[in-house]
Amino acid sequence: MKDKMIDIFTKAYKYNEGVSVFFAPGRVNLIGEHTDYNGGHVFPVALSIGTYGAFAKREDNRLRFYSANFEEAGVIESSLEDLNPSEEAGWTNYLKGIIWTFAGRGMKIEKGLDIVLWGNIPNGSGLSSSASIEVLMGYALRELYGFSVTNVELAQIGQYSENNFNGMNCGIMDQFASAMGKKDNAIFLDTADLSFEYAPIALKDKKIVVTNSKVKHSLVTSAYNDRRSSCELALKELQGAVAIKGLGDLSVEQFEEYKHLIKDEDRVKKAKHAVYENIRTIRAVQALKDNDIEAFGKLMNESHVSLRDDYDVSCPEIDVLVEAAWSVDGVTGSRITGGGFGGCTVSIVEDRAIDSFKEVVTKAYKEKCDMVPEFYVVEIGNGPCTL
Ligand code: ADP
Ligand code: MG
Repeated sequence: MKDKMIDIFTKAYKYNEGVSVFFAPGRVNLIGEHTDYNGGHVFPVALSIGTYGAFAKREDNRLRFYSANFEEAGVIESSLEDLNPSEEAGWTNYLKGIIWTFAGRGMKIEKGLDIVLWGNIPNGSGLSSSASIEVLMGYALRELYGFSVTNVELAQIGQYSENNFNGMNCGIMDQFASAMGKKDNAIFLDTADLSFEYAPIALKDKKIVVTNSKVKHSLVTSAYNDRRSSCELALKELQGAVAIKGLGDLSVEQFEEYKHLIKDEDRVKKAKHAVYENIRTIRAVQALKDNDIEAFGKLMNESHVSLRDDYDVSCPEIDVLVEAAWSVDGVTGSRITGGGFGGCTVSIVEDRAIDSFKEVVTKAYKEKCDMVPEFYVVEIGNGPCTL
């Protein structure tokens, strides 16, 4: 990959002296969806696929960006004087936001960079290509300039940047999974205080299979931000009666006792998802520890139903993929993953059933949606690295 990246860099900028190559992974979340901005638990894994970047320092203050995934945009030029979000800046906003966030924390770079990216992860599909490029940029700044930041801080910087530069009010999960990934382990993270533990994922005769619906809905950012606002409002209404910092602090019983304080039916459903999904995630990790993978799968299925009916972040195409998966003998569990409104599903599938899984899901998707899904049998990888 290093050679490939240097090749792309050379084609873009016609030189290749002083180039460093880095990688940061994407992630798939096994369970715990839309809980990360509610002080709840999440359970993602970093993937062996993600985004590669080649970087070289410049002598002036120019910034040049090129992505082999967005060839048509060509080389996009900017400078350190222009660290403001803008529509024209397109995908480069993600990287500029990281440089801007570092500067805001006293880690200012004085001279510019030439940068190329190439990702082997689908964009905008719920596998967090955006977090991978944020963590990649932060990691590159740390390695190139010797800034003293931990990987957890790289995750926090990524989230801060996506919230405040890109206007996407995401939680910490995506960046945390990318920055802290560990091969063959999932990360059981409590987003209330960032305490976490690694949980080995030894599925023996099963695999994690990601299915890409290839559906990308517009207005995802505003729909996501709306969900977040609803949960925040519901939290305020509940805080009148119970001393909680986030919806993740509530047990199911407490929620049922106090939910009448939430003065809107729709908001009750949103808060219900946040509370129940958090409890489901805790139970799922316990099930995994107890070697009860069937129980884990059942909780994944319940998670989907809740995201579909209460949180309202699924879409007809994703429901077709998940329902087809449920119908296959040898599928332990299947659900939507990521922010929603399209993107991917995640399923746990017995090795012997993988072929029939692909066949049944493809057939249903073709018949009901006239589309062809894409499948990735996932490998759990490490966090960012230097090549
Ligand atoms: P997800 O994070 O689920 O993939 P997002 O919509 O949050 O979806 O992020 C996708 C966006 O991230 C892309 O539209 C693009 O702006 C940026 N991006 C991701 N990967 C790359 C890449 N390799 N090169 C350039 N931009 C990228
Ligand atoms: Mg994203």
